[in-house]
Formats: sequence, C-alpha cells, structure tokens
Amino acid sequence: MDRFGVELGKGICRMIIGLFGEDSPLILALQNDLNEKGFGACRSTQDLPRDQSQHLVFRKRRLPPDWESLREAGMVLVCIGEPVEPAVPFDLVLSPRQSEVEALANLNRLVRQKLTGSPRPSWDEYFMRIAQVASMRSNCIKRKVGAVVVKDRRIVSTGYNGTPRGTRNCNEGGCPRCSGLAASGTRLDECLCSHAEENAITQAAYHGTSVKDGCLYSTFSPCLMCAKMVINSGITEVVFNMGYPLNDSTFQLFEEAGIAIREYRLI
Ligand SMILES: [Zn+2]
Ligand SMILES: [Zn+2]
Repeated sequence: MDRFGVELGKGICRMIIGLFGEDSPLILALQNDLNEKGFGACRSTQDLPRDQSQHLVFRKRRLPPDWESLREAGMVLVCIGEPVEPAVPFDLVLSPRQSEVEALANLNRLVRQKLTGSPRPSWDEYFMRIAQVASMRSNCIKRKVGAVVVKDRRIVSTGYNGTPRGTRNCNEGGCPRCSGLAASGTRLDECLCSHAEENAITQAAYHGTSVKDGCLYSTFSPCLMCAKMVINSGITEVVFNMGYPLNDSTFQLFEEAGIAIREYRLI
C-alpha cells in the first residue's frame, strides 16, 4: 500500500481506475476500452510498474477491506453491478443492465473529467518547490537554503548556500564558524558560507544574465546582506517560505527601496 501511495506522490501514476465487479462481458469490455486508450492493466497494488504508466486500470471482483486507503491514494472507484457495500462512495456505478455503449460513454465522461481536473501547482508553488529542491544541494551543515530568480515566469538563475566555488565544502570542514556550531546570529562575520540568494545573484552574474525586474524565490527570508544585494541587482520582488528570526531591518530596507516582499508557505 505504501508503494502505491509513494508512486502517486511522485506523480508517476497520474490516474488509476479501479473496476470492481464480478467477471462479465461488460467489465471486460470496459477494461479493453481503457487498455486501448493507454491504460495499463494490473491486478494488485504490488503489480504497479515503477517506471512507466501514467494510467492504470485495476480490476478486482470485490473491493479490498482497505478501500479507503486506495481512495486516499487517488484511485477512481468504479462499481459494475449492484454495490455490495452501499456505503462506499463510488465515483461511478454502472448497472450490468446498461448497454455497453452507454456504460462506455459514462466511463469515458468520468475519465475525461478526472484527467482534465488533475491539480497543477500554482506559479508560487512551482518556483518555491524548485527552490526547495535547490536547497537540497546545499553543503552547509547549519542550514539548507535554496533560491531561484524568475523573470517572465522563467527561471534565470538558481542558488543554494555553501562555501565559495573551489573551496572546501562546509560539510567537509570548510567553514570554521559552521563547524564550531556557533549560536544562531553570532560570529556571522566569520562565516565562509555564501547564502542561497547571494549565490543565485552571483550565478546570474557569472553567466552574464541580468536579474533586473526579476523575482527571487527563497526557502528562507533574506538576511540584511542579501537584501542589499537583491536591491542593487535590480530584483523587484522577493517571495520567501520561512521567516528568518532577525529580519526587521531587512523588511524596513525593502520597504524603503520599494521591493515587494511576501511570504508563501509550502504546505
Ligand atoms: Zn556552512
Ligand atoms: Zn543572506
């Protein structure tokens, strides 16, 4: 079951339809129709392929006792015949007395509705999640932060925090302050780690890309030093996921410089 949930969470299987009912020409016709439309078949959650298939049809005589977890994992439940358990909120109940044409039309309508209604992340979520992935590349032992600079809804630069290019990584003892586990907010001038926002801006400079009028997404609110860089690089908006405890002067500076700043929390 876990695997099933994980697969869906990874977005590999975009849609799984569970056909539940006794073997009948109708259920076979429905399955064949879905197979022709690119739905691979599987008989158990263990059979779900790891590497392919955006769509799968899952056929069983009866609902398993853990049907609620199937539903939570995103399976569309279709009943063919009288529901044995009327309490189950099936997405579709098809009577065996229905004509094949009518049943296929009903199922196709449901499939189309589910496929077109699949949720997409907002732009904020999209960029913040990418910043979050960037943070995973951080080599800093104290904190992992990621940032992306976006212009016209396109990413022009990314960054994560860590020691400068060509020097020993923070997690290999490259930063004495981080290795010394200094208390938060102390000995900041001894820290050799560049910040994610700083690196996103300098990476753009490295490639000769302008960040003017761009928007910076950061998994953390910028510190005062990064705020100054943001202002002077021409970035006009900052979106952050989590507030840094010492950020009052940053906010004031942004306000004075006319930089829009807002929080966007990933759930
Ligand atoms: Zn560090
Ligand atoms: Zn910073």
